[in-house]
Amino acid sequence: MAEYSVFSLVRNALGGNRDWKPAWRKPDPRPSYDAIVIGGGGHGLATAYYLAREHGITNVAVLERGWIGSGNVGRNTTIVRSNYLLPENIRFYEHSMKLWEGLSHELNYNVMFSQRGVLNLAHTPAQLDEHARRGNAMRHEGGDAVLLGSEEVARMVPGLDVSGSARFPVVGGLLQPRAGTARHDAVAWGFARAADRLGVDIIENCEVTGFLREGEKVVGVTSTRGDIRAPKVAVAVAGSTSRVMHLAGIDNLPIESHVLQAFVSESLKPFVHQVVTFGAGHLYMSQSDKGGLVFGGDLDGYNTYAQRGNLPLVEEVMSEMVAMFPSLARVRLLRSWGGVADMSMDGSPIIATGPLPGMYLNCGWCYGGFKATPGSGWCFAWTIARDEPHPINAPFTLDRFQRGILIDEKGQGATPKWH
Ligand SMILES: Cc1cc2nc3c(=O)[nH]c(=O)nc-3n(C[C@H](O)[C@H](O)[C@H](O)COP(=O)(O)OP(=O)(O)OC[C@H]3O[C@@H](n4cnc5c(N)ncnc54)[C@H](O)[C@@H]3O)c2cc1C
Repeated sequence: MAEYSVFSLVRNALGGNRDWKPAWRKPDPRPSYDAIVIGGGGHGLATAYYLAREHGITNVAVLERGWIGSGNVGRNTTIVRSNYLLPENIRFYEHSMKLWEGLSHELNYNVMFSQRGVLNLAHTPAQLDEHARRGNAMRHEGGDAVLLGSEEVARMVPGLDVSGSARFPVVGGLLQPRAGTARHDAVAWGFARAADRLGVDIIENCEVTGFLREGEKVVGVTSTRGDIRAPKVAVAVAGSTSRVMHLAGIDNLPIESHVLQAFVSESLKPFVHQVVTFGAGHLYMSQSDKGGLVFGGDLDGYNTYAQRGNLPLVEEVMSEMVAMFPSLARVRLLRSWGGVADMSMDGSPIIATGPLPGMYLNCGWCYGGFKATPGSGWCFAWTIARDEPHPINAPFTLDRFQRGILIDEKGQGATPKWH
């Protein structure tokens, strides 16, 4: 398969663009592999790529129920950041951030990683204190964070209402300059193409319908394209985790599925150059290269596997947007959609061996698994290849919920819809 380069671009442009090859093969599943990854989202594809690239395990199949990019990896609001408070989270997301910084070159695929900065607004002095504490924690772990006063925020984002009469006055903000956005589906396509080039079989339209067992041990899967055996079976199905694990008889996971909506406005001239988040509610927005405002807010708040949400949440998100940017009140909404988020009980993920022998579990990504994609794939591949976690993902066990060692970034307790 050809390298993407300026030369291949020119050659194909001169040749009428008739010579581009498919980015990955469409193989039929073989009867057995060394490892199976269930779920062709960002995490499953990244896992397969790093299994091949870092551990030389290339006899791998990624089994995807639909098509590559049909899940949350192609539905998110594309924000990439590592601005966490707790050391476990900062270390993991910083690791992911460093992988993002070299990802387009690594994959030979432009994932359009744009380090435009993520600015968390503070609306009260107490919130600014919390931002200072989090910024210090980030810097302590080697990350980047800058605390801004309201005048600096006003200069940076001129459209914001920072007046004293604003409904939620802006008293400052925490900026992570290296954070930003990436093109979500390019991440799926880039990992798929790069994994395929290393020999991984990416099998679309292949739904896993059950697990093959020898006693307790998982030795493969049944699927809509036949039985496929492997001594290692990894589950990376995000919002479908509880459904897929139910097929293995596991019904007590600390995971709930909730719908999360995303919105895009009509195109506007560039006026917001960072990702900006509202601190008096839950709203995050950026402006795409095409000019549309890309934004989202809270979960709808009820358990569901539906990939669409309801109007009360739309109204709530729009009201927060207008509180932040009153001048946007007459802008039209162009598109909205939903994705199913796998909410864990402490807001942090699970990347672990088990819970059955031969099985490996990756889930609990809540609102923020897109930014984790390379880090999650890298750590999960290590865990699968070596049958033990890397120190970076060692805290993200499944049994921490039994042992009470939660990684509760927000301190909200076991209330997944708040994380
Ligand atoms: C609206 C929205 C906005 C978001 N915004 C952000 C953001 O700005 N920043 C951020 O970091 N994160 C964000 N996220 C979260 C992020 O998108 C997810 O956490 C992440 O994409 C989940 O991992 P994934 O890419 O592997 O999931 P997915 O792409 O959902 O992959 C899972 C795959 O498993 C497949 N599957 C399920 N069941 C089976 C089966 N039985 N057999 C075979 N395959 C199966 C599915 O078809 C799916 O393709 C957002 C999510 C949503 C919904």
